[in-house]
Amino acid sequence: MDSALREPATTEHALLTPELLAQFDTPGPRYTSYPTADRFGPDFGPGETVQALSALAVTGDAAPLSVYVHIPFCESLCYYCACNKIITKHHERSPEYLDALEKELSLVVARLGSRRAVSQLHFGGGSPTFLSDPELTRVMTALASAFEFVPDCEVSIEVDPRTVTPARLAHFRQLGFNRLSFGVQDFDADVQKAVHRVQPFESVRDLMQSARQLGYVSINADLIYGLPKQTPESFARTVQQIGELRPDRIALYAYAHLPERFKPQRRIAESELPSAAGRVAMLGDAIGGLLARGYRYIGMDHFALPSDALAVAKDEGRLHRNFQGYSTQPDRDLVALGVSAIGRIGRCYYQNAKTLPEYYESLASDTLPVVRGHALTEDDVLRRDVIMALMCQGRVRFAAIEAAHDVRFGERFAAEMEKLRDMAAAGLVELDADGIRVTASGWFLVRAVAMVFDSHLQASRERRRFSRVV
Ligand code: SF4
Repeated sequence: MDSALREPATTEHALLTPELLAQFDTPGPRYTSYPTADRFGPDFGPGETVQALSALAVTGDAAPLSVYVHIPFCESLCYYCACNKIITKHHERSPEYLDALEKELSLVVARLGSRRAVSQLHFGGGSPTFLSDPELTRVMTALASAFEFVPDCEVSIEVDPRTVTPARLAHFRQLGFNRLSFGVQDFDADVQKAVHRVQPFESVRDLMQSARQLGYVSINADLIYGLPKQTPESFARTVQQIGELRPDRIALYAYAHLPERFKPQRRIAESELPSAAGRVAMLGDAIGGLLARGYRYIGMDHFALPSDALAVAKDEGRLHRNFQGYSTQPDRDLVALGVSAIGRIGRCYYQNAKTLPEYYESLASDTLPVVRGHALTEDDVLRRDVIMALMCQGRVRFAAIEAAHDVRFGERFAAEMEKLRDMAAAGLVELDADGIRVTASGWFLVRAVAMVFDSHLQASRERRRFSRVV
């Protein structure tokens, strides 16, 4: 290995040992919601969503909304993909989709009332940049006539570098986009070939430079470790290269190889995947490399430069979490538009149909295309508060939870506190009479700490264990 690429660990990072990773870095939810989307059920549908939207309209709650728009199309298949997307080169499919999207928007606005304030708008996919410039203009025009964007509204879009040019980024800027998220994953040519996503470093570099010149407020880059053909050495080079580009934020995700669940992943040769030890080395080196280059660890796979709003919000205890990950804004009601999109209104989560025929069919009959959801129980709301306090502040104050929910923390969570003792012994959390505090090394494994309070996860584990025993 090129030792210049293996950054010296910082004090914070030195606390994260391979043993800790092996013991506690288990697969689990990312907690962009609680309960997580796999708990949503078909008993929550269009009628319940209409009720939730109407209730929000009646309360006259003037707090700004968040809006998510899902564009499902991608021109080419990335073999690691686990997203809900449609691979097509037929751009003539877009207008029909945009017709449906506008219909859905009109149904939502009919319940919610028009010109509601919006402080966050995010385009995700699939690849939102599959849409042409006139098509994106069309969607933004429809949204701008339905909602009132507050002056400092965060308007972000996920960018597939293979589908944009500096001229397109300039067009997005004119449309009001002020944040970009680049899907980078890895810069190594062999890895890019193995996952069928070839995008040279130079093209990403040029796009990021253009984005800066165009005045984008925040630029994010996604990386993935654990991909085929990756080695600790090659991934350290990618980390070095991304560090040179200095995006404001970096998301570092682990690749989960689940070919029985995600068909595209069957094209990945298992023999080319890095070993478990290799993955641990890549994660440890990447964390060390990013910290050494001045990035701050925000939590759950996310890093940011100290000047970025997320790092500032973390320092000030103002971090929140929603379906797009960490956010500086309070947990807004989220209107979701598009196939498979997930929203939250009040205490209800809802998800749209996952296939285009179903999505189109509902809208053709003037019905919201919601196929499942979940109305939170009191217990869900209580646990959501605890989990989000852990994920965002790294701290649970018993008194605050007890005051908000009229419970005795120690009694209500006796079993959970018992489980936390192992984590306390391993140095991931500190427990005292006032609360739970996630330690510096615990921050890197905060998902595992949060999982202790996830009763839905515990219940499904019990069920799995039960079915294995039977
Ligand atoms: S990873 Fe993104 S760009 Fe690639 S196929 Fe999946 S949704 Fe499309």
